[in-house]
Amino acid sequence: MKLAQQQSTLARLICSSCGQPVSIFEPQTFSPCCQQPLTAEYEYPESFTPAALQHRPSTMWRYAEVLPVLDASNIVSLGEGMTPIIYPKRLTEKLGTPDVYIKDESGNPTGSFKARGISVAVSKAKEFGLSGCIVPTAGNAGGAMAAYCAAAGMQAIVVMPTHTPEVFKEECRLYGAKLLLVNGLISDCAKKVAELKQQYPYFDISTMKEPYRLEGKKTMGYEIAEQFNFELPDVILYPTGGGTGLIGMWKAFAEMEAMGWIGPDRPRMIAVQAANCQPIVQRYEGRISSVKEYTGAPSLANGLAVPHPFAEKMIMRVLQESGGFPVAVEDQAMLDAVRMIANTEGMLIAPEGAALYVALEQLLDAGKIDRNEKILLLNTGSGYKYLQNL
Ligand SMILES: *Cc1c(COP(=O)(O)O)cnc(C)c1O
Repeated sequence: MKLAQQQSTLARLICSSCGQPVSIFEPQTFSPCCQQPLTAEYEYPESFTPAALQHRPSTMWRYAEVLPVLDASNIVSLGEGMTPIIYPKRLTEKLGTPDVYIKDESGNPTGSFKARGISVAVSKAKEFGLSGCIVPTAGNAGGAMAAYCAAAGMQAIVVMPTHTPEVFKEECRLYGAKLLLVNGLISDCAKKVAELKQQYPYFDISTMKEPYRLEGKKTMGYEIAEQFNFELPDVILYPTGGGTGLIGMWKAFAEMEAMGWIGPDRPRMIAVQAANCQPIVQRYEGRISSVKEYTGAPSLANGLAVPHPFAEKMIMRVLQESGGFPVAVEDQAMLDAVRMIANTEGMLIAPEGAALYVALEQLLDAGKIDRNEKILLLNTGSGYKYLQNL
């Protein structure tokens, strides 16, 4: 089976800050002009319409026209995307809100939504003829990269905090990656990656420091639109670490509006962080002027333990443009919510996803979200990988 019949229409990569273009035909990291993330732009073809999607494969590669892999033979896919949107009936009764939904990303390859971004980034590394990929990770990105590199026949180096639960390490080893452990958080792993890059000619796929993982994660935005029949929710809660999913969904909404698939209405985007590591909350509240000043601690939700998100400016922009805001949730409350959701709804979700439920409860009580709004929670990963910590 061909992974995608349609041709990518990638036209440009530009600096997200000043708009200066860089070549799409060689590996790129961040913009040389402003040291900011690069963003991909497409020449939307007229044939790319909601109706055209109907008979396409049930993976995120159904949106191939707006994904950056130029030659479909380079696509490295394990069946990521087109995850279900679930109506958690018993939770809605508990909350007294009729219109809450969970997009459940736990069924993705390697058990998290990281598969989306990594599938695209590894495909691009293959397209550029690179022999391997390297990444600093809090856990899930490393496992996903190891798996996709195995599928691509490429080398993988994963750098992870020593305190990460064993399962995240073991999956990297099983997928044949070289695993390095560093005392500290993902920001300390990033320093190690910067050193190692000098020795290995590998593609550095650090979060938002290359433009392709964002493209993979934006497919969540396309799916949300398609699955809700192009009527977006009023509010989306998203567990924000590096912010790729938040920025990605926002980009997808803009692309779909440009193609006439949706109107100008947008959800309020709410970034949920861990109380232990909440740089965006602190930045939003004006307590720091840049996340670089922030010192974070580990969290049970290791995907949220990102003290210095590189795409800080883009995250802030999405919150402002959407009328949303960030909130922080305690580890203990996440843990309680994981258990409650498991025995109420039969879903064993990641603590990152459970954090959204805690935030939703608080925001409903505070009147910041109305009980009649259409609310979507993004459960980004599987709780099964966290059993050791639960
Ligand atoms: C990485 C991760 C996050 C955070 O995603 P970003 O795109 O970096 O904001 C949230 N949840 C889980 C389970 C993750 O693995």
